[in-house]
Amino acid sequence: MRRSARIPLRPGVLPRTHIPSIGALAPSAQRSQRRWNATATGAHDETSLRPIDSILIANRGEIAIRVNKTAALHGIKTTTLYTDPDKHAQHAKSSAYSFNLGPTSAYLDQDKILRIAKENGCQAIHPGYGFLSENADFARRCEQEGIKFIGPPASAIDSMGDKAKSKDIMEKANVACVPGYRGSDQSVEKLESEAEKMTYPVLIKAVRGGGGKGMRVVMTKEEFRDKLDSAKSEARNSFGNDEVLVEKYIVRPRHVEVQVFADQHGNVVALGERDCSIQRRHQKILEESPAPGLEESKRRELWDMACRAAAAVGYEGAGTVEFIFDADSGAVYFMEMNTRLQVEHPVTEMVTGVDLVEWQVKVARGEKLPLNQEEVVERIARHGHAIEARIYAENPDKGFVPDSGWLEHVRLPDQGVDIRVDSGFVQGDEVSTNYDPMIAKLIVRGATRRDALRKMARALEDYEIAGPVTNVDFLKRIVRSTDFMEGEVETGYIEKHKQELFPQLTVTGEALAEAGLATYFQNAWSRQASSVGSSPSWLQTDSDFQPRTFNFQRADADSGPGKTPEVMSVSVQQLSPGSFEVTSNDKVWEVTATWEAATKTLTTYFPHTRHTSRVVIPPPERLNPTVGAPIHLFSPQGSFRLIPAPPSWLAKALGTTEKANSLLSPMPAKILRVHVAPGDVVKKDQILLVIESMKMETVIRSPGENLTVKRVVHSEGETVGSGVELVEFEAPEEA
Ligand code: ADP
Repeated sequence: MRRSARIPLRPGVLPRTHIPSIGALAPSAQRSQRRWNATATGAHDETSLRPIDSILIANRGEIAIRVNKTAALHGIKTTTLYTDPDKHAQHAKSSAYSFNLGPTSAYLDQDKILRIAKENGCQAIHPGYGFLSENADFARRCEQEGIKFIGPPASAIDSMGDKAKSKDIMEKANVACVPGYRGSDQSVEKLESEAEKMTYPVLIKAVRGGGGKGMRVVMTKEEFRDKLDSAKSEARNSFGNDEVLVEKYIVRPRHVEVQVFADQHGNVVALGERDCSIQRRHQKILEESPAPGLEESKRRELWDMACRAAAAVGYEGAGTVEFIFDADSGAVYFMEMNTRLQVEHPVTEMVTGVDLVEWQVKVARGEKLPLNQEEVVERIARHGHAIEARIYAENPDKGFVPDSGWLEHVRLPDQGVDIRVDSGFVQGDEVSTNYDPMIAKLIVRGATRRDALRKMARALEDYEIAGPVTNVDFLKRIVRSTDFMEGEVETGYIEKHKQELFPQLTVTGEALAEAGLATYFQNAWSRQASSVGSSPSWLQTDSDFQPRTFNFQRADADSGPGKTPEVMSVSVQQLSPGSFEVTSNDKVWEVTATWEAATKTLTTYFPHTRHTSRVVIPPPERLNPTVGAPIHLFSPQGSFRLIPAPPSWLAKALGTTEKANSLLSPMPAKILRVHVAPGDVVKKDQILLVIESMKMETVIRSPGENLTVKRVVHSEGETVGSGVELVEFEAPEEA
């Protein structure tokens, strides 16, 4: 009683007036009207339930591993799938049975997946997220084949899968939507005139879109047609459908979403909300619960709307109702419902103590929801604050373009009840260009938001990844950013805090000294490969006491026409075993240092401090001949990626000096469109080519004014690797 007095509104036990009239809903919604009883939890007669003892996991990576974990806890047998490029992927090793589907795109091969499920006696299919998880046809086929699709009925996926249709349903259920045009007249003229009516800025969205794809912000009328073209082309490529809607662009929005759960008995509960406002490319990178600074009454209003949304489409299982919250006016609008488990579901698990995958299986069996709304509220009150950081192979300094490559070194933070890592990769795996570049999710919980943020900052400090470029350092900067710590979140946060989040970092003298020492040790170690033990136990020879100079460049330094990356020199001389004189950044340091090759740990006693750092120097077979081997230094002063600077004679021999006039591909990609030809003189920022990577289009623009195109190296349709020459310009006239 005490608690319910504090919590007057319980979304799970809505008064009847909240339930939309049957006539206004999709036919499937009528089912949810049968009963609406959030207290109907309790024991079941096992024999009345659908048996789910064996599940096929129709997904890959961390989510497949995640589902498998819960299945293992409950004695459920699992079958996993993989494709040719995923042959060695961790998820395929997480179950006793795993089947090869063949080509890269085969996670979408419904026939094969259903056949494997039947042949292996799987009673249910868990679709994870992405791939077939929101495919109504697939859900329908599962139903027809007598296999339980772990998710909502196909009709609910249909209703919610279309951004236009779902909004019509929501408006009928009295849930507010962003003002916009969602009509079937898709002519350019109509769309343009609708945009004009709602006044700029507007947002074009692919009706079938997801993951931020097929979405363009249009600031002025002049941009409209270009943006429409590119949104449509991206939508066609990604979803095979280029219908769009146009809506008012909210200038200072927050993304707040509600985790809902519904069972087959008409019960719906909200498991709290998540704020996912920290986004880049309209995609989330940090998610937290509860949403910071949201009034209790507002939270309840959101939960209430979310439960109504789920009820309106006869929902079953886990779903997320996304809202856009106008930080200026305080208005909240329905955005869309995702009819599956979300990437960020662990945040909710942390603040409710509920295993959402376990609930999915229970609901699929026909059980009632294990908790009612009041019980959920009590749990949320006890569990504090949780936050998730998505760790991607991508380069924040280059517009967050995806990266790929071997994970040369991975060191995870210590995990426990409050720190969790969900990952599909281990050290030695390859992050390939075939699939999403998310490496892992780091989730932490704290008693308060501040506590959670401190733990997140520390855990990110301890998270080391060498190989592809990652966003780990960028995430560290966000979680320490003052406004973020104050809870001042909005979807434009990254853009607004550019200065703070993209600082020009210099490599410190100490860091450079450490890079030099580690390279020295590594070279000495290689020479002594036959001896065992760690430094300085090898037999020192005269050559170990010779002075050496190493030249480095920043691996992420800007290169290209007219840009010569700075060369940083460090000289190292061993004076007596383990004692060195090191010169870097015009400073001379007398230091002692030890190197433990097995753990890549360098301990350096500078005159004023001791540093323990990890230095990852890739083995020779991983050397990239064009860019050099990146050395990853994780030091107390920050992490740095360095490459050995090529000696000038080598640059000449390879002809790489000419590359100064070339534009290189920032990532492995396919050439979609070429806009220039040899002889063209281009202005700064003029579009040269459009390339595509991970179904995302990137426009390559001219880096300078009045450059003459000498050669376009590749034609449309060709694929290129990262760092490969795209356009060569005429050498500028000598001044
Ligand atoms: P997707 O399904 O591709 O993820 P959403 O419709 O969920 O697309 O929108 C993704 C993100 O785009 C939201 O989280 C929000 O940041 C932003 N967004 C969506 N609609 C609007 C809008 N009308 N105004 C401003 N930002 C929006």
